[in-house]
Amino acid sequence: MSDDRPRLRWETTLPDGRLASLLARPNALNLLLDGEQPSFTFDPLGRLHGAFYEGRNYRRSLDNRVLAKWTASEDGQKRRQRRWLRQDEARRLVQVAHELVCQMAAAAGAAPPAVQAALASLARWDWDGLERDRQRFQQIYTPVGILPPDQYLALVLQATHGCSHNACTFCTFYQGTPFRIKTPEQFRQHMADVLDFFGPAAAMRQSIFLADANALVAPMPRLLALLKVVRDWSRGAEGGAHAGAAGRRSEDAAAPAASMTAPGDLPLFAFIDAFHVERKSVADWQELRAHGLARVYIGMESGHDPLLRWLNKPGDAADVLDATTTLKAAGLQASVIILLGAGGDRYAHGHVRDTVALLNAMPLGRGDLIYFSDFVVHADAPYAALAAAAGIEPRPPAALRAQELAIRAAFVAQDAQQPPQFARYDIGEFVY
Ligand code: SF4
Repeated sequence: MSDDRPRLRWETTLPDGRLASLLARPNALNLLLDGEQPSFTFDPLGRLHGAFYEGRNYRRSLDNRVLAKWTASEDGQKRRQRRWLRQDEARRLVQVAHELVCQMAAAAGAAPPAVQAALASLARWDWDGLERDRQRFQQIYTPVGILPPDQYLALVLQATHGCSHNACTFCTFYQGTPFRIKTPEQFRQHMADVLDFFGPAAAMRQSIFLADANALVAPMPRLLALLKVVRDWSRGAEGGAHAGAAGRRSEDAAAPAASMTAPGDLPLFAFIDAFHVERKSVADWQELRAHGLARVYIGMESGHDPLLRWLNKPGDAADVLDATTTLKAAGLQASVIILLGAGGDRYAHGHVRDTVALLNAMPLGRGDLIYFSDFVVHADAPYAALAAAAGIEPRPPAALRAQELAIRAAFVAQDAQQPPQFARYDIGEFVY
């Protein structure tokens, strides 16, 4: 477990009498008022990362949008709420944080040099600075469509773009993005750009997510060449380029030097569709594991073949079973994602029944994850029109919870002592 204790702590009283605190942790900086809130979190380069302000949580994305999350009472019940802020609202939040930084910097004349350096780095990131940073981010990355919830803080490396299938009727993540696999040269440049962009903020990222949706479908020789690019960074074969990227920014680093794991040594995670797992042998997957691959995520959606066909998923339930069996035989962790409510009322019974049967047949155990994701109908995906034409009604939230409970209750782990973990996957919470 990493040591997250503050390496630097400094307090000052602001002109309005409030106590302001600076805490520099290995992987982040925190500013707090009156010992608690509002509080602001910044990455080690000094970019605003998150906030708790006026009773709401905020999370800023690298393309400079802000998601607000809070709890509200509705009909006597507490419900989680969220929405993306308008740009003027996001700008206001950034200004509040920046004004606090400037007030603290003005009071830091007699503070230790490390405190002054940290505050000076934070002060660089006003709204205009973050907007320039957004433009740079968007030059390096195509939109990062989605990540699994346990990978929201991964370092995303786009070895491929888009999805090789890109035809599931409910999915809009990669619409308009033709699938392509980068050459090793393109990927090397991408990784250099990514590491230069993050600089010391890479210390906040404890894994690598090999994006986009289906990076692992690349044929083995091409995939191994791409993974070699990642691994070479930690072994100096790229001329110490990672150290160079971090070093170029080190004078800007707001946090004290963190014990940064070289990206090439971080565990690798990636999505793949079940149909394509079988195209690689157990030996292939073992080789990928030897190159750092730790866990593979499969959008299984359902164990009910008629529903999978109707959703236009690649492969069927047998493919998902073969896929997880292959991955587990190779010693990899596996994660499957179930879409609660997919297919509406028409498919509900078969969806639950066959999903349970499929899960119970899978060799999932400790380290594996079963995600439940509420089905979301996107207006610009074919699903909405297809469901309307077929007279398929969406399921209400209570029915989705009932589906989840039914699947959980009927699930039988193959090893009761080492069961896989269940978790929620709310795509609306995704922020990169
Ligand atoms: S395979 Fe996954 S990413 Fe590709 S279209 Fe289907 S749901 Fe979307």
